Amino acid sequence: MKLLKSKQTLSHESMPLIGIPKPLDQLSESEIERKACIGKVMTYTLRNLTSQFVDSGFQWLLPVALSQSTDPLWPDPGASIEKRIEVDIYGKTVRTTASMIIHKLIASSLAYPKLFILSPNIRIEKAERAKTGKHIYEFTQLDFEARGASSKDVMSLVEEVICSLLTSLKRDMKDELTSLCRCDTLALPKRPFKVYDRHDLEAKYGADWEEGIAQETSDPVWVTNIPREFYDFEDFKTGKWDNYDLFLPQYGEVLSGAKREWEYEKILKKIERDNVDKNNYALVLKLAKQGKLKPTAGGGIGMERLVGWISGVKHIAETQPFPRVPGTVHEL
Ligand code: AMP
Ligand code: MG
Repeated sequence: MKLLKSKQTLSHESMPLIGIPKPLDQLSESEIERKACIGKVMTYTLRNLTSQFVDSGFQWLLPVALSQSTDPLWPDPGASIEKRIEVDIYGKTVRTTASMIIHKLIASSLAYPKLFILSPNIRIEKAERAKTGKHIYEFTQLDFEARGASSKDVMSLVEEVICSLLTSLKRDMKDELTSLCRCDTLALPKRPFKVYDRHDLEAKYGADWEEGIAQETSDPVWVTNIPREFYDFEDFKTGKWDNYDLFLPQYGEVLSGAKREWEYEKILKKIERDNVDKNNYALVLKLAKQGKLKPTAGGGIGMERLVGWISGVKHIAETQPFPRVPGTVHEL
């Protein structure tokens, strides 16, 4: 794997414009063929990954779309939210799901020790993110959580799941990968994947280390120790975060995950420190206070980024039947 020798300034927002995916009714015949081909890769990937999680003892939960409590997406250095959607129903204010992290923590603690959800996330990204090719305003995470798991457990599970998916795809989807010109270029990564500390990447690439590592790596790699939302575990003594992101070559972050906080005092302290409205996290705080929130670890895989990488798309909205490109709203 080749890494940049010196600090460079690479910015998502300054990347060259790339073709913006069009809706189905505007595609040519050859574009429809390509769309259908990517659709087959998506179908295969969904079946393969859900089977692997079920076979490993995870229960499959259905998602929710509206809740009082959703992911604050703050503080997250990667977040760029233009608007948060809130609506009143039955006299209460609910929000569209940004991620099901809070639901996962509670469900895994109380009833479903190992769970996963194909969870639609709505994040109204700033319109200028259309040109990154990596951001859409509705996407789906394969979101999973396991009670009592460590970061290491999750990282090796993810490596196994991804390598097994790629092995099966290369065996069963040769025609599709060939027509997407990915048959030869999609290599099976070596395990274990390399692990970098965010500190070291910052020293090497500067503030835009995410783009630096994505552009320079030729294999999926882990990045650990990333300061962000209150629910990821932070060691107050060392200042280190026990979390991890998986980065794909070119496509960047495809998974975020962590060992989670479960202790009341720490969660409260972090929510207050981050200026997050604690009224929206009353249940998680109450359960933590009662000792009912358990140590868990997990992560969420962005399906459009994963299948986008496998298929070699220019823009991940190409993997969507109804593209959700920031700044553009079509009838469907
Ligand atoms: P996050 O909760 O922001 O860490 O997101 C979890 C995963 O969802 C990321 O690693 C991406 O794969 C995916 N993801 C996050 N935001 C977007 C977006 N705007 N468009 C597409 N995928 C996204
Ligand atoms: Mg993330």
